[in-house]
Amino acid sequence: KELLLKAENISKHFPVKESMLRKSKSKVHALDKVNLSIYREEIVGVVGESGCGKSTLARVICRLIEPTEGSIEFDGVRLEQLGKKQMRDMRRHMQLVFQDPFSSLNPRKKVRQIIAEPLDIYSVGTRSERNKRVDELLEVVGLSAGHAERYPHEFSGGQRQRIGIARALALKPKLLICDEPVSALDVSVQAQILNLLQDLQQQFGLSYMFIAHGLDVIRHISDRIAVMYLGKLVEMGTSDAIFNRPKHPYTQALISAIPVPDPVRRQVAVALAGEIPSPIDPPSGCRFHTRCPFAADTCRTVEPELRVGGDGHSVACHLAEL
Ligand code: SF4
Ligand code: MG
Repeated sequence: KELLLKAENISKHFPVKESMLRKSKSKVHALDKVNLSIYREEIVGVVGESGCGKSTLARVICRLIEPTEGSIEFDGVRLEQLGKKQMRDMRRHMQLVFQDPFSSLNPRKKVRQIIAEPLDIYSVGTRSERNKRVDELLEVVGLSAGHAERYPHEFSGGQRQRIGIARALALKPKLLICDEPVSALDVSVQAQILNLLQDLQQQFGLSYMFIAHGLDVIRHISDRIAVMYLGKLVEMGTSDAIFNRPKHPYTQALISAIPVPDPVRRQVAVALAGEIPSPIDPPSGCRFHTRCPFAADTCRTVEPELRVGGDGHSVACHLAEL
């Protein structure tokens, strides 16, 4: 297995506006020392509640925002060493698919223009080559060339997400960063889009960072799953390990929350207490201690390190066994 992406020790702290301050120099700890690697042709699911930092991580990885600290290696190149122009060239290989196919497509542009936009921006090919590529892409995502001359409002939510995916594929990227691509869609349509993404991954040998707020969505699509909580990576392992041998109480709670009547799973049900705390001045020690049913004194003061087991399954919890 060959690495495509290696994000090391990524932190992102946003300053808090003066009016929101409880004490001066507070920061929103959106990401705190996160490590994430993605291999070629691998699908890595990233899961956590809103505010856990998963979208911030996605944006830091393609350097739409700069991290406070940490380094990112993509396709053998350290991104922080690249200038603006070089980063722009590099970004062709990492494309984003957004959550909301309604707001991410310009309503005044025809589908042809929308899908061709990345090709125009990077001046790929001639006008007729670009048109041909758009027709190809429409077919690849299960639409037809006839759809090219229509406007986004003429399509259903699922079709619009197909258009968004076609646009993301236009430049033949290596990595697709999918930020909750099916959350805004009906459940029946979700499965179709997930199947499409899975087919495309195989067809083009793509790698995905696949963000979701619930584990059920990414269960079948992911090779490995990273679980995030309040800016921290708390557990990472193969999809099988995460579902069958979850080690972190938060992961166990996320699995318990999946509405499937499963008597075995019920036995290990872990309920989440309370609300997710604010990422401004997050809880001391283990950030999960305010909601963890197993929290002990140490948990309130000592931050658990992410420890890696022999099988590559890693967890950040004082009580978890490797
Ligand atoms: Fe719970 Fe303590 Fe483990 Fe944190 S370190 S998840 S509070 S048991
Ligand atoms: Mg998000």
